[in-house]
Amino acid sequence: MKTVRELASLLPRALKLSWQVSPLLMTLVAIMAIVAALIDPAVLYLTKVIVDIVYQNLGQGVQWALVIVPLGVIFGLWIAEKLVGGITAVVQQLLGQRTYNTTFQKLLHKASKLDLAFFEAPKFYDQLQQANLHQGLVQHLPMSLFHFLQNLLSLGAMVGLLSMLHPLAFLLLVATVLPRLFLEGHMTRLGFKLGSELARNFRRTDYMQTILTDREKAKEIRIFGLGSFFFDRFLEFRSEYVSAHIRQMLHFMGYNLGLGTLTTLGIGAVSIFAVIQAVRGDISIGTLTLVFSAAQQIVSLIGGVIGSLNSVYQSSLSSSRYFELLDLDPQSISGALQPPRVAEPRKAPLRIRKGIELESVSFTYPATDVEVLKDISFSLPAGSRVAIVGENGAGKTTLVKLLARFYDPAAGAIKLDGLDYRDYELNSLRESISVVFQDFAKYDISVAENIGVGSIEEIDNRDRIVKAASNSGTDTIVARLPNGYDTVLGKTMDEGVDLSGGEWQHIAIARAFMSDSPLLILDEPTAALDSLRERELYERIARLASSKTVVFVSHRFSTVRMADLIVVIDDGKSVEVGSHAELLSRKGKYYRMFETQAARYR
Ligand code: ADP
Repeated sequence: MKTVRELASLLPRALKLSWQVSPLLMTLVAIMAIVAALIDPAVLYLTKVIVDIVYQNLGQGVQWALVIVPLGVIFGLWIAEKLVGGITAVVQQLLGQRTYNTTFQKLLHKASKLDLAFFEAPKFYDQLQQANLHQGLVQHLPMSLFHFLQNLLSLGAMVGLLSMLHPLAFLLLVATVLPRLFLEGHMTRLGFKLGSELARNFRRTDYMQTILTDREKAKEIRIFGLGSFFFDRFLEFRSEYVSAHIRQMLHFMGYNLGLGTLTTLGIGAVSIFAVIQAVRGDISIGTLTLVFSAAQQIVSLIGGVIGSLNSVYQSSLSSSRYFELLDLDPQSISGALQPPRVAEPRKAPLRIRKGIELESVSFTYPATDVEVLKDISFSLPAGSRVAIVGENGAGKTTLVKLLARFYDPAAGAIKLDGLDYRDYELNSLRESISVVFQDFAKYDISVAENIGVGSIEEIDNRDRIVKAASNSGTDTIVARLPNGYDTVLGKTMDEGVDLSGGEWQHIAIARAFMSDSPLLILDEPTAALDSLRERELYERIARLASSKTVVFVSHRFSTVRMADLIVVIDDGKSVEVGSHAELLSRKGKYYRMFETQAARYR
């Protein structure tokens, strides 16, 4: 839990953020708060004036000349109050929405820049979810601060009015309301603590809910009859959540009851004192009415001051979650990419001249202790087609992740044209690599956009998209769709069209053809294609991408045999490297794998 001091340091940061969004709207909010704060005390004072005038002139006829001015001003103030309320609501909405856009944008930017290693760690998910949950409340921080100051100003004016009874009368009220300051802070702290403790529970409930409503999983849920299995889990997590909340609610109810009684006693005491004074003739009737209203208002204003102070505290706690994520040190997780080792990292080459070299590369996933890649060394000559083969779990995808620099090797190095990956600028290195993953993303947007995301700055370049589609043989699929390139895919939209697994794979491959990157990696994106189509596709890639270095993972030897170089991975080690013919003649692992598959076709 953060200290009050740490939280207070967030105030200037949140204020600055809103100020940057709009200085004009911020100024307006401040002016409106000051005006709103002074209206009620002014009305109260004018009412006293009117009551006194009326009382002094009782039985002497109506003295309009004396009361008309204060009455007019009261009416004016009432109208002003409505006006200020309306303007404040609009201005706060505008400022709130614009601040929200900014905070959200900063959050997304940060999350999208974090290393993959963060996404392997459940703790980080909780952190991301908390930041996401609380980021909408960052905009409340300046607002609740203004609200606090407004209440404080109003309270000051009311205390001034109450001093007409006795300069210290307000102290009695403060004493009865003060315990609330501590209790409310305590309750906020408890509430926030519970929220944090339940973050994991919340994430699990959310996950169960997603499983039960997800289109992708709907088939398995039905065929294996998993509905009630997951639903029971959902209920279990949910009831944990609900009962923790109910326990806390009952706890808080007790506090509130005690506080309410204490406050009533305070107002009662001040009122009795005022009546005694009035009967004695020490205060006027006008002042008596003023004291009655002022005492009530002071109590509710002290409550308001405490309440808004509490909102400031609450929004600071929320903002702290948000700012914590923004400030997250990219190096704070094991397995994060290492910072550049040289002062000025190089731009990655537009064409690979020599090739890529793996030198004794070993790797272990963050937060695990099993070495997944062990001392792997081989070279990928520039312009070659390299196949990576191996059984499931051998480490092929992990190798692809290292080649795309999602992780750095734990030991050894990967070099591009003789220079360590870590000495290139990360963005420029990523731009020179395109990867089609096994679990590529399927976006519920148009076909053209689905392909265009492969090179986001070219997303509106239709010629380029059409070329990428025809180069990857995806154009024949697009031609069959109702609106061609403008067909919306997926089922999120009413007009959305769904594609078969193989068709989606073609779209993902076309995406990789959008980029001019000199290294193309395909991690078995063709599993849903039949072997003839897979082979055809790879032949096409070989023809079209003649200047590129192509690395692909495949289980089909009809495709693998076309490669210039084949790397066999077994249990995290590169056990054989060579051409199809060389590896067959060696009669090792590759030969045995090839024979097993060939036997099925004989
Ligand atoms: P392949 O692509 O050859 O099937 P992978 O590279 O996907 O193999 O996996 C190699 C090993 O690494 C497996 O034992 C797998 O369990 C482990 N592994 C894969 N991904 C992760 C991960 N994100 N965290 C921890 N271990 C992983």
